[in-house]
Parts: sequence; structure tokens; C-alpha cells
Amino acid sequence: MIKVTVWNEYIEEKMYDHVAKVYPEGIHTCISNFLSKDKEIQVKCVTLSMPEQGLSKEILDDTDVLIWWGHQAHDDVTDENAERVKKYVLNGMGFIPLHSAHGCKPVKLLLGTSMCLRWKHGEKEKLVCVNPSHPIAQGITEPILFEQEEMYGEYFDIPKPDDLIFLGWFSNQEVFRSGCTFTRGWGKIFYFQPGHEEYPIYYMPEIQRIIKNAVKWAAPVNKRNVDYDNEEVR
Ligand code: ZN
Repeated sequence: MIKVTVWNEYIEEKMYDHVAKVYPEGIHTCISNFLSKDKEIQVKCVTLSMPEQGLSKEILDDTDVLIWWGHQAHDDVTDENAERVKKYVLNGMGFIPLHSAHGCKPVKLLLGTSMCLRWKHGEKEKLVCVNPSHPIAQGITEPILFEQEEMYGEYFDIPKPDDLIFLGWFSNQEVFRSGCTFTRGWGKIFYFQPGHEEYPIYYMPEIQRIIKNAVKWAAPVNKRNVDYDNEEVR
């Protein structure tokens, strides 16, 4: 059984009616609902307003893969909690930052670059697979077309990915590295661009399949349980 924790800052769904219409119970609940249908996956949801911002040792100890959706409250996540997430990833926890989570503190700590990109609302997107043999692309019928998505454009300031799996093309002629994998320590990371809060992206079966595949790919093969600053010499 893969234990997944879906972390959501859960602000815009409560703040804006048009976002609440798309995700009445929050983006995390939508993601949890489709992941829970898989017998190999067990899901819990946590949000920023919970004790220890939903990122306590107890929660992360019980997490194989952490999915993260954040946008306007990146700076509200404490440095202590961001550092804890980083350590768990280095020790083997899988990490899947979605959409605007490219700018969250744990991503910046783990990848070390600015993660800057260019953006514009309301473009069409065509998502193509550029790595069909990768497990995250398994069973995906593409191209995947979005009537409306927030455009993310290059240059996307990421370190060189281990694998580029999806490329986004937008109707304003921009392209973007939309699905990339990284390895940090013992942990596997998949960044996936689709999922702006105003559009019903996470209800799309192909997007759900990609996130489900990513969970299975990012699940740890091995975890270690050490303070990586003070690893014992053998
Ligand atoms: Zn967005």
C-alpha cells in the first residue's frame, strides 16, 4: 500500500466563488477522491491551517509520497516545516509538486534554483508526451488538450531534469517543460504543470492517470531513517 498525503494551502477555494464552484471541497479533496479509487493507494489530506501546517513528523513519518498544491501562501509555510519536508524527501519520500507549487519553499530548497517562469491566464494548452517509455506516461493517450489553462512559459529556471516527460504548447505560442523528474538524495520528485485552480483540470481522466502513475513511480523503493547531517560512518 502506498501512503499518499495531499497537502493543499486551501485558500483560494474558500476565498473566491468562481474557484469554489470548480473545487467546492478543495483541490486536495478532488485529488484524494480519484487517488482513493486505486486499491494500492491510501490517501490522507492536510492543509496549511492544520497544526504544524499539516507537516508534522507524525504525518510525514506516515507518508510515502507527498503531493503539494500551493500558490499564494508559499511564504506562510515556515522554514522549519519546509526544511522537514526536504529532509524526508532526501530520506526517500516521493514528492509531487503540482502547478504553482513550483515556487513553494520545499521545491526551492530541494532544487536550488529560482523556479521562475513566465505566465498568463486563459490560454489553450496542448500537452504532448516526449518520453513514452517512462512509467509516468503509461497508458496515457495524448496529446491532451485543455480548452483553458494558465500558460507557463520558458525560460523555466529549473536544474536539468533527470527526465522530461511532458511538454506543453500554448495558444500564445509558448512552450513549457510541463512534466519533469528529479532525484534528490533517496527521493524522487515529479513536477507537473497542469492544474490552475480556476479550471477543472484535476477532473480530467488523463491528468488523474498521470498523477496516479507519478505516485506509483515516486513511491520509495527504499527509505532511510537518518539525520542526513549526522549520518553514522560504517
Ligand atoms: Zn495557476
